[in-house]
Amino acid sequence: MKQTTLLWLRLDLRLADHPALAAAVKRGGPVVPVFIWSPEEDGDWPPGGASMWWLHHSLTALDKSLWQLGSRLVIRCGPALETLRVLVQETGATAVFWNRRYEPAVMERDREVQEALVRDGLGAESFNAALLHEPWMIQNQRGKPFQVFTPYWKHCLAKPAPAEPLPAPKILPAPPRWPKSLALGELELEPKLHWADGLGAAWQPGEAGATANLGRFLTTAFDDYTDHRNRPDVVGTSRLSPYLHFGEISPRQVWHGLRRLASKRCLPVEQWRGSQFLAEIGWREFAHHLLFHFPHTPTEPLRADFKKFVWNQDAAWLHAWQQGRTGFPIVDAGMRELWTTGWMHNRVRMIVASFLVKDLLLPWQEGARWFWNTLVDADLAQNTLGWQWSAGCGADAAPYFRVFNPTSQGEKFDPHGDYVRKWCPELGKLSDKWLHRPHAAPAASMRAAGVELGHNYPHPVVSHAFAREMALESYARIKGSAAGNCPSTLSMRVMMPRASPSD
Ligand SMILES: Cc1cc2nc3c(=O)[nH]c(=O)nc-3n(C[C@H](O)[C@H](O)[C@H](O)COP(=O)(O)OP(=O)(O)OC[C@H]3O[C@@H](n4cnc5c(N)ncnc54)[C@H](O)[C@@H]3O)c2cc1C
Repeated sequence: MKQTTLLWLRLDLRLADHPALAAAVKRGGPVVPVFIWSPEEDGDWPPGGASMWWLHHSLTALDKSLWQLGSRLVIRCGPALETLRVLVQETGATAVFWNRRYEPAVMERDREVQEALVRDGLGAESFNAALLHEPWMIQNQRGKPFQVFTPYWKHCLAKPAPAEPLPAPKILPAPPRWPKSLALGELELEPKLHWADGLGAAWQPGEAGATANLGRFLTTAFDDYTDHRNRPDVVGTSRLSPYLHFGEISPRQVWHGLRRLASKRCLPVEQWRGSQFLAEIGWREFAHHLLFHFPHTPTEPLRADFKKFVWNQDAAWLHAWQQGRTGFPIVDAGMRELWTTGWMHNRVRMIVASFLVKDLLLPWQEGARWFWNTLVDADLAQNTLGWQWSAGCGADAAPYFRVFNPTSQGEKFDPHGDYVRKWCPELGKLSDKWLHRPHAAPAASMRAAGVELGHNYPHPVVSHAFAREMALESYARIKGSAAGNCPSTLSMRVMMPRASPSD
């Protein structure tokens, strides 16, 4: 008698290179794909608004692909364990398979689910579908987790290459009777406001979109990646992050896609394996390694001395940052790109994060939370790494005393202003010379461009030069070298002079 398997789908919303699906098919019996909506089981980090939008469309695409294989997606609401047990009863399944997730609360939940299902006498097996290397399999010579990227990635690259991706099944055996499913709309994942229109224009969630994006990147952008990856004004990166987060493509598929391209072009192995692009996939792995070994880091600094840091608490500044109305064009462009498309270029993420943490002295956790709710690629491991890196309090982080100057960063990485003009159209007529520093532009240039600070574009919320000094003093204070010399950051807004032309 052929045994039925429940395939519990989570952040692995694809059919190709899907180890849990392949294992379920191998059992030879019917396979029942199920998605369980149980955001409360994600601990403090249930999916944010942009992630929910993506999830809705990704599940739609997956269901369509499943129908083409003679199958379908069964949708239920959690709790996960109870729901799986009910589905086991309804289908007579003898095993439940899933691919692993790595968020601390979810790992805990999964452990409990697995133990309970095994106690019920069922097969309950999990697989790795999201990472090249399991976080617990990589350790330094002292048997400890890595905290510096370069030796971490060198260590990973010395390991055997990841196995070839698994093919998608051609057909999925259906159960004699399908269990009932909720309609996807009943989960109410899509926002009620029209806020998501920009997301729909920018993205095609699902496996087909992921594969198309990888193909486009490899054929048109990979060669120039090293030169273009820091330029928000060109499409120089892969834009694979949401697809990787939702598991619509696997890092193994990316690895082998790159390997095939290299072999077609007769590139030496060290050239593509040592490429900057693959190193970014390595940063993704590193982020998961860190989250697994330091599960408190989504809310607490990895470097304990930063717990003493006195942050500013200024709701008006936070709001200005969130809305893209700080008066610093590259920061505002980035925050508006995020709001409209659910994504922001990596260089600009670093600039806006540095600005929040070092110019406004607002807690990095506030920035991480805003990103969490607005990014379509919001990922607990990568978001935590990005924010702790920017705040200087994480592993292999940018030193706190390196404070990005938002004006010169804009001039360097958006040299013709195309990016700022796209997202801050009110500045569009300013010449390249003043575009990134409207507060310093001569009155005649501002008049000619139709820009009036305080009316159609904000005055800078801070003087960067002054804010930088304040940040360095606050930092010195936690280092203990300038205790007592630094004014409380809480009074910073009162003291803050207007921006100067050097900002
Ligand atoms: C403050 C801050 C917050 C961030 N939050 C997230 C997040 O929630 N989710 C997320 O996926 N990325 C996050 N990143 C990392 C990075 O900005 C994005 O992964 C990248 O911009 C995605 O664009 P891409 O797919 O075109 O990247 P590419 O340059 O084409 O890189 C390929 C893949 O490598 C991974 N990657 C690239 N850069 C990094 C990096 N610095 N750290 C970790 N992985 C990386 C991503 O999965 C990416 O899709 C954050 C960075 C910062 C500074």
